[in-house]
Amino acid sequence: MNIILFGPPGAGKGTQAQFIVKKHNYFQLSTGNLLRNEVKLNTELGSEIEELISNGKFVSDEIVNKLLKQSITNLKFRDRIIFDGYPRNVEQAINLEIILNEFNQSIGHTIFLNVSRDIIEKRIMGRMTCDICNMTLNAYFNKKEIELHPCGAEHLKKRKDDNLEVVIARYDTYMTATKPVLDFYIKNSNFTEIDGADEIGQITNKINDILKV
Ligand code: ADP
Repeated sequence: MNIILFGPPGAGKGTQAQFIVKKHNYFQLSTGNLLRNEVKLNTELGSEIEELISNGKFVSDEIVNKLLKQSITNLKFRDRIIFDGYPRNVEQAINLEIILNEFNQSIGHTIFLNVSRDIIEKRIMGRMTCDICNMTLNAYFNKKEIELHPCGAEHLKKRKDDNLEVVIARYDTYMTATKPVLDFYIKNSNFTEIDGADEIGQITNKINDILKV
């Protein structure tokens, strides 16, 4: 079944998605990574995206939908997708439902990682992402893992938008645009809220329990 991991930026969605991918053989679909990968692949769509991003413009819903459909219709990923950081607003939530219905799929679980802004600030300020394997580590909490990172520590980079001012702006955007998405999903029986302030391993265990059901 497909899963939505939902929560503010820095809640730990990417971190948990990595574990689910390994343990349950899932495909992590983050629209940010999807867009960046398309640019890396040098496709026609990729150069269109690159131009928009480098001019500071938003990528249109049309482009995001095109990429979403490519993944949803890929038989390798059928019913094994973790949506990480998507949908971000109610329009996208409705759109996702339409696309999934069209291809006879659905969302099996919506997991909400709830974390306060205080904690998020600390996590995002220390976040390092590998530009090869997309693994996320934290400069404050994962010093050893960073040193031993298989792709080489030099590939772990801070994202340009991970600074305090931007973090606050992103959190505010989340509160206004993304939180209504919660109301959209909360009424469903397959919705679960997890305390995202817990330790990484504890959260992983809770998610594993949910996925067993
Ligand atoms: P998101 O994908 O929700 O934006 P990330 O998974 O990238 O969040 O996590 C943000 C930062 O917080 C990363 O540096 C990550 O290593 C760290 N982190 C994630 N989950 C936890 C946790 N439960 N406790 C402590 N740090 C965490």
